[in-house]
Amino acid sequence: MTKLIDRFGRTVDYLRISITDRCDFRCVYCMAEDMTFLPRNQILSLEEIYILAKTFVELGVKKIRITGGEPLVRKGALELLQQIGGLNGLHELVITTNGSQLVGTAAILKAAKVKRLNISLDTLDAVKFKELTRTGNLQNVLNGIQTAKKEGFERIKLNAVVLKNRNHDEVCDLVQFAINNEIDISFIEEMPLGVVEKHNRAEAYYSSDEIRADLEKRFRLEKSPDKTGGPSDYFQIPKTKTRVGFISPHSHNFCSTCNRVRLTVEGRLLLCLGNEHSVDLKEMLRSPDFNAENLKQAIVNAMEIKPEKHEFNIQEQPVIFRYMNMTGG
Ligand code: SAM
Ligand code: SF4
Repeated sequence: MTKLIDRFGRTVDYLRISITDRCDFRCVYCMAEDMTFLPRNQILSLEEIYILAKTFVELGVKKIRITGGEPLVRKGALELLQQIGGLNGLHELVITTNGSQLVGTAAILKAAKVKRLNISLDTLDAVKFKELTRTGNLQNVLNGIQTAKKEGFERIKLNAVVLKNRNHDEVCDLVQFAINNEIDISFIEEMPLGVVEKHNRAEAYYSSDEIRADLEKRFRLEKSPDKTGGPSDYFQIPKTKTRVGFISPHSHNFCSTCNRVRLTVEGRLLLCLGNEHSVDLKEMLRSPDFNAENLKQAIVNAMEIKPEKHEFNIQEQPVIFRYMNMTGG
């Protein structure tokens, strides 16, 4: 079978798909307050997403993550997940969600063979939650987490973006919450994607090393050999079921083991989160001379332009003007 291998010898077997740029939240690090969303004809239809997912699986992709925007606010998302979950050759279907819709959807996700859930949760304080998400309701998300737990997913992981002077003082409480609920948690350094208004990214930077030092005052962290194929470094908290991960795009570059590409909501195949190298697959899909073999070949060829690494600089204005919600964070 043809495999996706880039010019640095990295095998790409993981695809992240942003199925919508829309969201019911407006997190301060992710979106502007009054976002303009894309017109419907510019975003991939559910059928187009399915064709692309199937093509990637035929090219050796083993894991697909559905993300957004908030994937669960797109109409038809659950049917799409069911279809993708049934693809022959796919080992893992996972989803990243803000948790707001989980009470009503967790059972359907489980039935669609979604194995693991990543749920974003930056704070346990309802007032701060509202400030950080602008429109979110903490209790909905907490209820969603409990519903998901009852469904018995293989693994649930919380994702927390840490901003200095906004939620950095809560990292221990978030880990305690993860321990109490027997789930994992990863801390993420903010990435400079899109222009955000209300905070200065350089001032809000709180490194993974600082978070780890804070945690080590209260918990023992033992380096875990587990790798989920992702950029997280994992630590086990002894005598608990919880692992703590650190995603550190600034302080610990993880590009050398990168195994992933992203499909943006507009159908661009993005070869690296921190660079603009991309190929327009929507144009190919919508061309009157669409040909499945040419599409496959274009994806194989795209591996030639996968950059070696990202270069994020939070001191400067962003060079990446797309927001995380379009990109498939
Ligand atoms: N709406 C879903 C959610 O929030 O989980 C899925 C999409 S969201 C873009 C995926 C992840 O990206 C979330 O965990 C979010 O916290 C993270 N994220 C968004 N903007 C970010 C940024 N500028 N830097 C780092 N992480 C970011
Ligand atoms: Fe929405 Fe997720 Fe972005 Fe927050 S991080 S605004 S929940 S897409």
